[in-house]
Amino acid sequence: MFIKSILFIILILIVEYFTLGKIFWFTQIFFFNPKSKKLVLTFDDGPHPKFTEEVMGILKKYKIKAAFFVCGKESEENPEIIRKLIADGHEIGNHSWNHLKMIFKSPKRIEQEIVQTDNLLRKLGVKGKIYFRPPFMRFLFITPIVVAKLKKKMVLWNIPTKDYKAKSVEEISKRVFDKCTNGGIIVMHDGRADRTLSVKALDKIVPELLEKGYEFTLLSEYLNYQ
Ligand SMILES: [Zn+2]
Repeated sequence: MFIKSILFIILILIVEYFTLGKIFWFTQIFFFNPKSKKLVLTFDDGPHPKFTEEVMGILKKYKIKAAFFVCGKESEENPEIIRKLIADGHEIGNHSWNHLKMIFKSPKRIEQEIVQTDNLLRKLGVKGKIYFRPPFMRFLFITPIVVAKLKKKMVLWNIPTKDYKAKSVEEISKRVFDKCTNGGIIVMHDGRADRTLSVKALDKIVPELLEKGYEFTLLSEYLNYQ
């Protein structure tokens, strides 16, 4: 019975993958669309008073917008950064309140992490849909059900920079250039640790990708394109 249940869930996820999340409404996981010509740049774990500001400066320099999946706790500590992100035209997503690993947690706890963060973001002026990204990409089966119940969508990524463990700017940029494809969602980090390398890498990655003809788009526009 257990094996059959697992196989059934795997089948659902495969169908969800190939239908880009449109058929099985209850998981509401968004998978990237490789046919799209555009890229989406996303940042997790902020906001941070130093690194998020530096990232914003680079994005402004190249006139591009990004999506920031922020944690509630850090947002409460740095509300002015959230307001600046909104003023600059960036999008804000929900990355839980405590950057919680959501496996083996009760549905109630998961819901609380998401709702508390959403409520704060609304108070800080975030309009429109707030997408959710589970910390550490850990979600198993309970989190998608909670997310669907809240009528939200999970947004993952397909170009991991692994900037959180990189030893050099080159290591980060090489990973992006090797994995970069049409419709890619890039994930970098701007908070909860020293992100000096991430900021430096961003200043190298963005102009090179623009030179290669890639275009950066807002997450909401990208999802509408689906
Ligand atoms: Zn994270």
